[in-house]
Amino acid sequence: VLIVRRRMRNSCRWARAEAILKELEEKCATPIGKLRQVADAMTMEMHAGLASEGGSKLKMLITYVDNLPTGDEKGLFYALDLGGTNFRVIRVQLGGKELGVIKQEAEEVSIPPHLMIGSSNELFDFIAAEVARFISSESEEFQLPTGRQRELGFTFSFPVRQTSLSSGTLIKWTKGFSIDETVGEDVVSELTKAIDRQGLDLRVAALVNDTVGTLAGGRFYDKDVVAAVILGTGTNAAYVERVHAIPKWHGLFPNSGEMVINMEWGNFRSSHLPLTDYDDSLDAESLNPGEQIFEKLVSGMYLGEILRRVLLKLAEEAFLFGDTVPPKLRIPFILRTPHMSSMHEDTSSDLHVVASKFKDVLGITGTALKTRKMVVDLCNIISSRAARLSAAGIAGILKKQGREFTLERQRTVIALDGGLFEHYTLFRKSLESTLAEILGNEVAPFVVVIHANDGSGLGAALIAASNSQYSELEVS
Ligand code: BGC
Ligand code: MG
Repeated sequence: VLIVRRRMRNSCRWARAEAILKELEEKCATPIGKLRQVADAMTMEMHAGLASEGGSKLKMLITYVDNLPTGDEKGLFYALDLGGTNFRVIRVQLGGKELGVIKQEAEEVSIPPHLMIGSSNELFDFIAAEVARFISSESEEFQLPTGRQRELGFTFSFPVRQTSLSSGTLIKWTKGFSIDETVGEDVVSELTKAIDRQGLDLRVAALVNDTVGTLAGGRFYDKDVVAAVILGTGTNAAYVERVHAIPKWHGLFPNSGEMVINMEWGNFRSSHLPLTDYDDSLDAESLNPGEQIFEKLVSGMYLGEILRRVLLKLAEEAFLFGDTVPPKLRIPFILRTPHMSSMHEDTSSDLHVVASKFKDVLGITGTALKTRKMVVDLCNIISSRAARLSAAGIAGILKKQGREFTLERQRTVIALDGGLFEHYTLFRKSLESTLAEILGNEVAPFVVVIHANDGSGLGAALIAASNSQYSELEVS
């Protein structure tokens, strides 16, 4: 009798688990019609954000970059890339049209987590110290002529209201950074002060978002690059807009007639987005509730966390991992997106990668094969939704640029970068096939997605070069 009851209870548990999975699948569904609505909403919000300051959730920030690299840039420049989990210092020697990038070297350091939520000075001092170390260890060949100052492009991957190409105030932090006193401050002057405290002689010649750097870096290699998207810890896009189409711009009309716009699409929100209770509670318990809703559906910081929340529900309501809830499953952000991608991409017949991640990360052992299969399904649901929504976002940009028609048959290139895009193969494939699906057979062949690997550092150096105090000398 006991055995029968136990069995019944087990089948009941499994039925509950399947019901939870099914509900998630339905709520996360992104049929093509829905993606078109999301793309249209993106286009509409782009218009609204360009029309007036605060006109949309999309800030559509003016970057002051009205010229993208031509390939003529020459000289030695530095870049500093602060954005997600790591930060990098880069040195680039540019040789103009004939020589291109002569040499590029970088050093990457991970940011100690306590600095992300500490004080402004601590964070900028840490960065400046790394730059000082990088420069002090460089060889003779990088000595600049006496009297010539080193110049640096600062890639700062957070929403900034720029006041010029080389200054701007922080609107808010994202991606797990939270230092109140920096908000509203000019981040270039914060960095410059920290550089001075190090006794370094270095000028910050440009301030750029990582999307803008990636756009510039991508353009350097391919003249058909018109937009850039980051899919990493966070997500965002930048693209080239006609100045005529920016009603809120009251500055000078640039010769190019163009301006790069940093969309800050992570903050996009629309009633068409397929949001679930898991997303709502993730948002409510985040460092920035109500903000960055698109980012919380799409980017690498959050995908693993969404999965953890679903697993927790399965543990609590369907006892999927035994009679008690495995304690580690209650720890926010314990399950990272790289864990999720390796489970999702487990092709072994016994799904042993899933089993080993469960053991190593969550302390859960002895999962049945059908449970592991369910985990793979969950990964697929969560990552497909993210990839397909990203593709819809890109389609929205192409639409705004008038490139969703075949009329001109012009090649259109989007530069992508970020760990999620680079390392999560199934995510990337889903994004690419969905974009083709949205664009249709006529247009898709003209739209190319390229991986601009670490393009933002090179891009920032190139923009610094174009804003160099010595540029007059360089031209002659
Ligand atoms: C930031 C953007 C950035 C993106 C990718 C977002 O959280 O708001 O400025 O471009 O992450 O790094
Ligand atoms: Mg890379």
